[in-house]
Amino acid sequence: MKNGLYKKFAHCRFCLNKNLKQVIDLGSQPAANAFLTKKQLKGKEPFFPLKVNFCSKCGQLQLTHIVSPDYLFRNYVYVSSTSPVFVAHFEQYAKSVYKKIKLDSESLVVDIGSNDGILLKPFKKLGVKILGIDPARKIAKEATKNGILTIPEYFDQGLANRIIKKWGFADVITANNVFAHVPYIDELILAAKKLLNSEGVLIIEVPYLVDFLQKNLFDTIYHEHVSYLSIRPLVTLFNRFNMTIFDVEETDSHGGSIRVFVKKNKSKRKVKETVENFIKNEKALGLGKLHTYQKFAKKIEQNKIDLNKLLKKLRSQGKNIIGYGAPAKGNTLLNYFNIGTQVLDYIVEDSQYKQGLFTPGMHIPVVSPKEISETNPDFIFILAWNFAKPIMKKLEQFKSRGGRFIVPVPTPKIY
Ligand SMILES: [Zn+2]
Repeated sequence: MKNGLYKKFAHCRFCLNKNLKQVIDLGSQPAANAFLTKKQLKGKEPFFPLKVNFCSKCGQLQLTHIVSPDYLFRNYVYVSSTSPVFVAHFEQYAKSVYKKIKLDSESLVVDIGSNDGILLKPFKKLGVKILGIDPARKIAKEATKNGILTIPEYFDQGLANRIIKKWGFADVITANNVFAHVPYIDELILAAKKLLNSEGVLIIEVPYLVDFLQKNLFDTIYHEHVSYLSIRPLVTLFNRFNMTIFDVEETDSHGGSIRVFVKKNKSKRKVKETVENFIKNEKALGLGKLHTYQKFAKKIEQNKIDLNKLLKKLRSQGKNIIGYGAPAKGNTLLNYFNIGTQVLDYIVEDSQYKQGLFTPGMHIPVVSPKEISETNPDFIFILAWNFAKPIMKKLEQFKSRGGRFIVPVPTPKIY
């Protein structure tokens, strides 16, 4: 890896095609979750290219440069179960899979990237055997302490062999968001294939490229998200490993996701019609065409121009603007649109983990929401803009005092 921290990929990680076209260029950016302490502001902050390639052969959309997963994930502090919406989603997930795959008390479910055990907890309640795998050491230790045994390692063939020896083969392997995160996907699939029994099922859930395009989720482009997924490229990918997608479901997680069920080719499970239907729909939407992504990139550019014009006007009128919410994706938006402390005085964030820190790249201070009533800003700029409605509702008091909201994407609007 260049500087030991990142590396350029010259081929498609799904079909190995070498002829890739760059479609989106978001410049050079720090890791979106690399919030800084006051002391760290004085040090050198690592920046990495943030560009997206399109593979015209299999249709896969992926980052051109990969940042070392160790740098991105080893010290991860994101704990899934802090969000009640996610907890409910994964309870439903476990119940649905339990029924669909016909699991029982003898079944083993292994979750890759299990975080604090948010999916394994409900599986455990249903009475199946469970095992978590997550390289984030702190979170893995905590999960194990709470009764969800979690191995603090990356999932590879070596680990798969050790699991087989100790626990036997798996009936189900789940990987949620992992396929969007992991650059070296081959090793992960080989390991999963090894660990699954002959009728075993790999289930992956990832944000869906169709929602990404239709809802303008360009700010979910950051270094942790190396792949932007749809069914057709996934079919090609699993083909290389003699595996078959036999069913697909849509879920509303992360603004629109797909849950993909994969079997070994020799398994007797029937391939459902849903798979072909998804592929047809993707084709109709132009997902396999370069032009679709070039058009998308142009829309981001226009968004940037319009938003900066609006913010400049408000600042020149002496208005005070603050940010609301410090999600990772907010940093793609701030860095690419070049919105810093010249525009936003500060950003408020509910999560105590981030309060007292500064945003990567733009170095905007992150503070407690209490600050709003103390400083009385004129405008609140909603960074978690896809949750704009519930946020505005929550902040009715601010509005009743005469405050207004800026929703920045897809076209900037004032409410
Ligand atoms: Zn490809």
